[in-house]
Amino acid sequence: MTATVHGFQTQVTKLLDLLANSLYSNKEVFLRELISNASDAIDKLHFMSLTNQDLIKDDPNFKIQIRPDKDAKTLTITDNGIGMTLDEANSHLGTIAESGTEAFMKNLTGDAKRDSQLIGQFGVGFYSSFIVAKKVTVITRSVNASEDEGVKWESEGNGTFTSENIKVPFRGTQIILSLKDDETEFTDTWKLRECITKYSDHISTPVELYEEKYEQPKEGEDKKEPEKKFEYTQINNAQALWTRTPKDVKDEEYTEFYKHLSHDYQDPLTWAHNKVEGDLEYTSLLYVPKMAPWDLYNRQNEHGLKLYVQRVFIMDKAEAFLPNYLRFVKGLVDTNALPLNVSRELLQETAVTRKLKKALTKRVLGMLEKLSKDSAKYTEFYKQFGNVLKEGPVEDYDNKDAILKLLRFASTNNDSAETNVSFEDYISRMKEGQDKIYYITAESYEAAKNSPYLEQLKTKGIEVLLMWERVDEWLMGNISEFNGKEFVSANSQDLKLGNLADEEDKKKQETAATENKDLIERFKKALGDKVKDVVVSTRLIDSPSCVISDTNRMMTMQMRRLLEASGQTLPDEKYTLELNPEHKLVQKAYAEMEENRFNQWADLIFEQALLADQGALKDPSTFVKSMNALLLG
Ligand code: ADP
Ligand code: MG
Repeated sequence: MTATVHGFQTQVTKLLDLLANSLYSNKEVFLRELISNASDAIDKLHFMSLTNQDLIKDDPNFKIQIRPDKDAKTLTITDNGIGMTLDEANSHLGTIAESGTEAFMKNLTGDAKRDSQLIGQFGVGFYSSFIVAKKVTVITRSVNASEDEGVKWESEGNGTFTSENIKVPFRGTQIILSLKDDETEFTDTWKLRECITKYSDHISTPVELYEEKYEQPKEGEDKKEPEKKFEYTQINNAQALWTRTPKDVKDEEYTEFYKHLSHDYQDPLTWAHNKVEGDLEYTSLLYVPKMAPWDLYNRQNEHGLKLYVQRVFIMDKAEAFLPNYLRFVKGLVDTNALPLNVSRELLQETAVTRKLKKALTKRVLGMLEKLSKDSAKYTEFYKQFGNVLKEGPVEDYDNKDAILKLLRFASTNNDSAETNVSFEDYISRMKEGQDKIYYITAESYEAAKNSPYLEQLKTKGIEVLLMWERVDEWLMGNISEFNGKEFVSANSQDLKLGNLADEEDKKKQETAATENKDLIERFKKALGDKVKDVVVSTRLIDSPSCVISDTNRMMTMQMRRLLEASGQTLPDEKYTLELNPEHKLVQKAYAEMEENRFNQWADLIFEQALLADQGALKDPSTFVKSMNALLLG
């Protein structure tokens, strides 16, 4: 059979250009990627061999071997893992998952060092060989294939590769890198030793380096030049990192292991390593990344922990062990309590999974609680993952209080959009006699901060939490209290001020209502069924008007628009208009004798209240027209 020439998928070609031409600093990552692939291939076969020992009968000791050849200028990485068939080699080494590449390309910064570190994150690992190699040859044989069904795949990284069936006498994969002329440092054993130690110490498979062995001449022997002897020596300690005692593992080891496990190029923000004995034995190693993945809010976002049973790798991205709102957590769980042949489907159903999920959720919440003591780190965390965490109190009712404790918001107590006030902070500052937590949701920080609804609360010196994320409105609509303190929206009809509303306020409102009876009636008549009611406001100081809704408002204007655009008809929400009779604009309107012009004033005062509340109007151009008419007098 002669080799067939294939074109790479377009994205691969683009990527290869990039690799070959611009990503030259931090070149050694190629070795991490190839060792990582070899280790994955061995994990897969190890797993299969649990139910079929015969598969590995003729070559039972898993290992990864690295062999430099100074004269030939090659570096060869060999594993006795699962191998590839011709079809597998053609597809796995010729394409990349589309979404991944796109994201990779988008994330490129032009900073060569950072860009090269991105390579691993997007699963384009194998192609990093071309950073140092001018030609890559892959010799492989699948565990399911006979000697004659071996494969030779070859490419110079310039748009095409060739592949063919050849005779391969061993199981597994051999990657032969023909090094570029200026990359021969990767045949130096000291250099390789350094890289291998860095990238594979935590891997449970032995990684061996082919190197020269010096023998001391024995006493009394001739001092003639000793013969050069080469052999493989194991470089890594080949003990799975999580099986070690936590206090013996160095931070750098945790960090390097995280990179191997997550394909992330950055260090993790924090981690928790726990070995639990007793009823339900398990070891968990959980990491919080520094940065949110590009697809965190994508429904198809893949996440979950690596599952090991009795140290054997069983599956990747096992989602069943953590709730959805903790989907940013990376890591693994190793347990004796599940059978080795557990399937994804079975996993969903077993009581052990449920127990583990409960325990691991507590671990993560505990880890975050601990992290929250370090305000710089927690701010970093919260910027990336705060909004995901807000899904928690609704999704996971059992842990509602623990999650609420972790949330942070901006507040009228600070003069910035920094979200760093917890409900506990808020409660500790509550005024005497205050027993509610006040908050406001709006379209932006500025809109929240300057909202007319806050005027009265501000005058009374009552702190209000400011919220403007889409998820906030939904969250606050679904929870009612924290530590026995009820949440009250600053735009609800009844602010439930209790003791804080002094007698004077009440009297003022009553007299204001009687004194302004005619004014109110006139506005009511002008606005008709555009409003639910018109009342005198006590909360307004600087603003002429505001709207309030007595239903628990769950829908912002933007959300309404989205739903309406998708063809849904929604009932119009009716508001009560609150008027500030002391405000000049309201007085000016009231002084207008001509009925048509008064109606225009009434519309304007109502619509500007809607605008301040929702950041948008259904019919902005009519609003602008009537405003201009009034401005012109
Ligand atoms: P990833 O490891 O993220 O899947 P890579 O580009 O590193 O991406 O590898 C692509 C695919 O090629 C792997 O998923 C695997 O199917 C296959 N592959 C790479 N190296 C090996 C190997 N040593 N043994 C078997 N299959 C391999
Ligand atoms: Mg890989």
